[in-house]
Amino acid sequence: MNVYTFLHVYYAVFSLLFGIVLGSFLNVVIYRLPAGRTISKGRSNCMTCGHTLAAKDLVPLFSWLFLRGKCRYCGAPIASRYAKIESLTGVVFFLTSITTLDAIVCVVNREMIYFLYLIYAVLFMIVMCTVIPAMMIWHDTTKGFVQLAGISLALSAIACVIAQVISASSDYVMAIVRFLIVIAAFPLLTWIGSKLFKTAYTKNDLFMDLTFAGATTFEHLLCPKSFSFWVFLFPVVYCIVRSALKGKKNDKFAGIIYFVIMIAAITISYIYRLATV
Ligand SMILES: [Zn+2]
Repeated sequence: MNVYTFLHVYYAVFSLLFGIVLGSFLNVVIYRLPAGRTISKGRSNCMTCGHTLAAKDLVPLFSWLFLRGKCRYCGAPIASRYAKIESLTGVVFFLTSITTLDAIVCVVNREMIYFLYLIYAVLFMIVMCTVIPAMMIWHDTTKGFVQLAGISLALSAIACVIAQVISASSDYVMAIVRFLIVIAAFPLLTWIGSKLFKTAYTKNDLFMDLTFAGATTFEHLLCPKSFSFWVFLFPVVYCIVRSALKGKKNDKFAGIIYFVIMIAAITISYIYRLATV
């Protein structure tokens, strides 16, 4: 195995495992953020028997698989949802790594450009750690969180600067305008949608829109030089689907619909670039 193959495999496997571990942390965020509880302190307990869970019960995904979805102490079933969130985060990190394999050659090549590309990919993985809780918290409570929106926007602003450096473009004004257009487009389009379909638009909607808008600015992750304006179709599609569901029980799936459409948009964009570059 040559050094590049080794690095590629290492990067992909590490990303998958790291995603699963972070997914476990996201479960805590999803559970505690809406309850206003601290996410840094406190041990986890079994929801049924209250037994404090030991380290061996808390290995993300693998404990759940090994215990066949049951509590070690009382045998009560543990919801598969935690394992699903961990798997989803792992898969998102893994897919990001295999679509940015070149980034890891910075370890050998020591070229700044690859290093920046790696940071860009990692920032995308981290921004997904705001999108996944935003989606699930919406599902549970139909609330959006300013904290998640704030982190997402901050990360996307940093990524925007990095993309500019990678593409060696000196057109900073255009970059800022482009960035602001994407960020503004999401709340604006869904707000227009809410007016057209005569539904409410609350600050919860705004926070969720901004969380997803931040993540979408990474859409040119795989080819920072270009920018496809059709990405605006994404909030439009979301807006139509969501507004059609609004007011019904299905509204709690809005975050999940948002997520699925975003992943589809990024995937189509990726395949399109593979086909045209
Ligand atoms: Zn138990």
